[in-house]
Amino acid sequence: MAKGDPKILLIYTGGTIGMIKDFKTGSLRNFNFDDLLKHIPELRLLDCEIDTHSFDTPIDSSNMRPKYWSDIALVIKNKYQLFDGFVILHGSDTMSYTASALSFMLENLCKPVIFTGSQLPIGDLRTDAKENLITSIQLASLHNEGVPVVKEVGLYFEYKLYRANRTTKINAEHFEAFASLNYPPLAESGVHLDVNKGALLHPKKEKELIVHLELEDDILLVKMFPGITEKTINHFFSLKGTKGVILETYGSGNLTTEPWFIKALQELMDKGIPVVNVTQCSGGSVAMGHYETSVALKEMGVISGKDITTEAAIAKLMYLLGRNDSKEDFKNIFECPLRGEMNV
Ligand code: ASP
Repeated sequence: MAKGDPKILLIYTGGTIGMIKDFKTGSLRNFNFDDLLKHIPELRLLDCEIDTHSFDTPIDSSNMRPKYWSDIALVIKNKYQLFDGFVILHGSDTMSYTASALSFMLENLCKPVIFTGSQLPIGDLRTDAKENLITSIQLASLHNEGVPVVKEVGLYFEYKLYRANRTTKINAEHFEAFASLNYPPLAESGVHLDVNKGALLHPKKEKELIVHLELEDDILLVKMFPGITEKTINHFFSLKGTKGVILETYGSGNLTTEPWFIKALQELMDKGIPVVNVTQCSGGSVAMGHYETSVALKEMGVISGKDITTEAAIAKLMYLLGRNDSKEDFKNIFECPLRGEMNV
């Protein structure tokens, strides 16, 4: 480590990556992050200065919720000027949700915030944790004449850095656990770190970081399936207090045209509740009006999620509802990419 080396803050929230095997009991337990260098001495070889911050009680990411997203955002807010980059260790199960949320919460971000985790604990002989962690730190340290190369929220896993809000967890076993089907990787790690400069976000000029902590979590995600009943839809759509709805639809945004469904949807929208159309397909885009089965949705003013992931749609809906934009602007704002989460 030399004077002037980038300073990286490692934030540990929980998940498999931070676990070691208790050889007496055979079970996995969280290890004390103050001992990080003891477990990964390779970190001393990196050209950066590493500091750590751990959640008081590290959690399995299945227990993540917006309150914890705000906790992470607050740590970044408070340490933003002191560090050149941030690496967030997080369970892989809901990493795409948290990372998508952070991408919206951190407006005008001009430094790298890289999420990573692993499929096997850091204390396991065959672990993928070391490579994921070391390369994430290297990516967060990359700079060009003092300016960070990555100026957005990324997710690094198994040799690829993705734009976080484009990712989905696709595999519960393979080391290659994530995919970004609608956007190319931002960087790939091989013999060299190969950065795809054309794919990165290039914020025009440094504006002050704005951290949005108000998220509206009273939203509903309905995955449609052939055979979903009128009773079920009416039950969901009449829930009190719902502020926004995401419909996971078929193919390019198609749904049943049965009159009872169109009527229920119209009644929901008449209450002023924004409804977003997101495809169940992992890749490709919603294109309302392309088939007859989506014409009515378009005419009713359903919001097109275009090629957004469900994870990013949830985060964006919570973020925009929390911002209290006017009802008239809501559709237009949602349909515009704010952090590179959808194509124009
Ligand atoms: N269940 C774990 C979690 O998401 C899995 C992992 O860490 O990859 O916290």
